[in-house]
Amino acid sequence: MRLSRIVRETPTVSSLYFDSTDGTPLPAARAGQYLTLRLAVGDSAPAVRSYSLSSAPGSGYRISVKHEAHGRGSGFIHGRLHPGDLVEVASPRGTFVLEESTRPVVLVSAGIGATPVLAMLHQLAAARDARPVWWIHVARDRARHIFADEAHALLDQLPDAHEHIYYTAADAGPASGERRPTPGRPTAASLAALGLPTDADAYLCGPTAFMDDIAGHLREHGLRAERIHTEQFSSLSAVNPGVRPSSVSTQISTSSAAMVSAAGSCAPRATASAVTAAAEALWTASVVSDRQGDQVTAGARLEAALGLLQGRDGLAL
Ligand SMILES: Cc1cc2nc3c(=O)[nH]c(=O)nc-3n(C[C@H](O)[C@H](O)[C@H](O)COP(=O)(O)OP(=O)(O)OC[C@H]3O[C@@H](n4cnc5c(N)ncnc54)[C@H](O)[C@@H]3O)c2cc1C
Repeated sequence: MRLSRIVRETPTVSSLYFDSTDGTPLPAARAGQYLTLRLAVGDSAPAVRSYSLSSAPGSGYRISVKHEAHGRGSGFIHGRLHPGDLVEVASPRGTFVLEESTRPVVLVSAGIGATPVLAMLHQLAAARDARPVWWIHVARDRARHIFADEAHALLDQLPDAHEHIYYTAADAGPASGERRPTPGRPTAASLAALGLPTDADAYLCGPTAFMDDIAGHLREHGLRAERIHTEQFSSLSAVNPGVRPSSVSTQISTSSAAMVSAAGSCAPRATASAVTAAAEALWTASVVSDRQGDQVTAGARLEAALGLLQGRDGLAL
């Protein structure tokens, strides 16, 4: 796929826009899904990394990548990719997607975790969806408040929208426009005070501890556990801890993507070659499924990656 444009969003986050190389339409994505990229990072093995689409479904692919200190994949993306470059990208996948429903929607994110829920907000705004929509975002300060204006403009297009922003830095700086961020992090009390509807579907993305806390607060407030959906960007250790997944496939899909991410960063017992093999397994499975025009199940991808990590031969596909 051709990288058509790079846009700097904050000092540490840039958005990348992709086109197909031959003008053919891009495979459809559902709001909340992610792309898997295989990055030729140089002398070592390619880095396989997943990035949620932050764009509206049907409007082309945009991912938004935070430059992690010492990060192989994000460092390569920020330092070495330029418009016009070709990048290996698998079709969108993932089951953290906006459900069709008439219930209220609560979108909660922290930092770069805004990406998949922003895609959901785009979908809701494009449909002028009548559901009550709550946008709750936690940023360090105004300078690191990703998609502040874009999200605000999307919420303006909805008939029943509620926006609540939290800034965690003590010196967060002035609020922009009429928006008045709440200092600190959301607490059980501050969330309860918002009057969130208890029959809502909630979609959470951010650091694991953040999602654990918010999911707990939402359950205490009365939301049903199976209506609290989470997307895991980083560690394997806590896939929806304390939250009963809405379906087994959600949990498996989250695990398989997170596993490669975790394997690339901090899996303590995996050897470097096993990590590379697991990443390649996910990539191979993704590409095979794309070629077949068919989604390989998340379970099969997880199984293939696990098999390689455990030293089993071949792909179970
Ligand atoms: C489904 C899914 C969706 C995702 N969506 C997004 C998204 O929209 N945007 C986004 O930015 N990310 C997203 N991610 C995370 C992304 O896939 C990568 O995990 C992330 O970019 C980090 O990869 P990396 O190669 O830069 O870091 P790695 O090289 O894998 O390092 C992992 C971590 O270890 C730290 N580290 C590595 N080496 C050192 C060292 N020597 N000293 C100190 N620290 C070190 C890095 O800072 C980094 O935080 C998503 C992940 C998943 C699973």
